[in-house]
Amino acid sequence: MTASTEAADLFRRATGREPAGVWSAPGRVNLIGEHTDYNDGFVLPFAISQRTAAAAALRDDRVIRVTSTFSDEAVEASIDELESLFPTPEGTTPAVAEWAAYPLGVAWALRQAVAADGAPSEAFERGLDIVFASDVPVGAGLSSSAALEGAAAGALNDLWSTGLDAKQLARIGRRAENEAVGAPTGVMDQMASMLGADDNALFIDCRTLDANLVPLGAAEAGLEVLVIDTLVKHAHSTGGYRDRRDACERGAAALGAEALRDVAVDDLARAAELLDDVTFRRVRHIVTENQRVLDTVRTLREHGARAIGELLLSSHASMRDDFEISVPELDTAVEAAMAAGAVGARMTGGGFGGAAIALVDAAAIARVTTAVERAFAEAGFTAPRIFTVAPAAGAHRDA
Ligand code: ADP
Ligand code: MG
Repeated sequence: MTASTEAADLFRRATGREPAGVWSAPGRVNLIGEHTDYNDGFVLPFAISQRTAAAAALRDDRVIRVTSTFSDEAVEASIDELESLFPTPEGTTPAVAEWAAYPLGVAWALRQAVAADGAPSEAFERGLDIVFASDVPVGAGLSSSAALEGAAAGALNDLWSTGLDAKQLARIGRRAENEAVGAPTGVMDQMASMLGADDNALFIDCRTLDANLVPLGAAEAGLEVLVIDTLVKHAHSTGGYRDRRDACERGAAALGAEALRDVAVDDLARAAELLDDVTFRRVRHIVTENQRVLDTVRTLREHGARAIGELLLSSHASMRDDFEISVPELDTAVEAAMAAGAVGARMTGGGFGGAAIALVDAAAIARVTTAVERAFAEAGFTAPRIFTVAPAAGAHRDA
C-alpha cells in the first residue's frame, strides 16, 4: 500500500467522510553539498520515491485537526490560535506535540505569507482535517520532516486556494521547521522535496533559490544509489548543528564576506592566516564543498555518474576531518563500501549519525551490502539498515 492510499484509508476511518484530495511529497537524499545551504551556497539533492501523503478536506469550523500514523493522538488548533502558538520562542519546545508543529507550523507560515494581501477566498477561513501517512524513514537523513511539510503545504495551498508556487511553499516549509519546530535548517530539503523530478538531481543555488534539474544518469551508467542508515540518531535542533552554523557565521564575518558562499577556494590561504584553526577548518569545508558541488554538476553533464566517485569521497573526508560531523559508523560505512568496490561514497545529511550513500554498480549491490553489514558487526555497531533509492518526482497532488 502506498502512503497515499494509507492516508486516504485512515482519513475515512478517522473522520467518517471522503478526503477532498490527497497530496504527497517525497523525502530526499543529498548527493553532495553538505551544510552549504545556510551559507548561501550550492547543493545537489534528489527527491526519492519514499513519500509522505496528506489526505485532507475542509471543515465547517475553524479547527485544523492533524492526525498521523506515527501517533495515536490527533492534535487540534484553531486558525485563530496559530499566532499565539508560533513562533516557538528560541530554546523552548513547541506548545503542541512536536510532530504536529510541522503541519500546524506550515498552516501558520502559509497564513502569514498570504494574510498581507487579505483573505484570498472563503475557504481560507475554514479549518481542515488532515491525515498523514508516510514511508519515509524518520531521522535517517532522508528528510521526513520536509516530506511532512511538503504534503501539508500542498493540501493547504489547494484547499485554501492560496495559489502559491512550489518555491514559495518550500520557503513556507522551511519557516515552519525553523520557527515553529525550532530546528535551524536551511531550505535545501524543502526545495528538493517540492521540485525534484524523476531521474534528476536538483542543483540549487541557496542564495537565489534558482533550481535546475541535472540528469543523474545513474541507471544508464549501470549504477544505483545505496543508502546505509546507521540508525545512529541525529538531533538537528541541538548542539553540533548550531555550533557549526555559528562557526560559519563567525568565519564569514572575520573574512568580511556576506556569507561563505562569497569566499573562493583561492581565498583560503588568507583565511588560514586570519582564523583560528577550528574556524578555519569549518570554513574550508564549506568553501571546498561549494566547489565540489559545481564540479559534480559539470562532471555529471560531461562524463556521467561514474565519474563523480572522487568528489563524493573528498566530500566525506572534508566532513570527517574539517567539519567534524561524521561518526565512526558513517566512516565505517564509507570505508567498507569503497573496499567492496563502490564507485564513491559519503555521509549525507546533517551529520552526527544518520545515513551514508554509496554509488554502486547494480551488479555489486549484494556484495557491498554484505561487506558493510560485516564491517558493522566486526566493529560491534548496531546492524545498519541498507536499501537503494532512485531519483523520483517531487511534491504533487495524488488524488
Ligand atoms: P529527518 O532527517 O527524517 O527529517 P527530523 O528530525 O528533521 O529528521 O524530522 C523528523 C521528525 O519529523 C519526527 O520526529 C516527527 O516529529 C516528524 N515527522 C516526520 N514524518 C512524520 C509523519 N509521517 N508523521 C508525523 N510526524 C512526522
Ligand atoms: Mg529533517
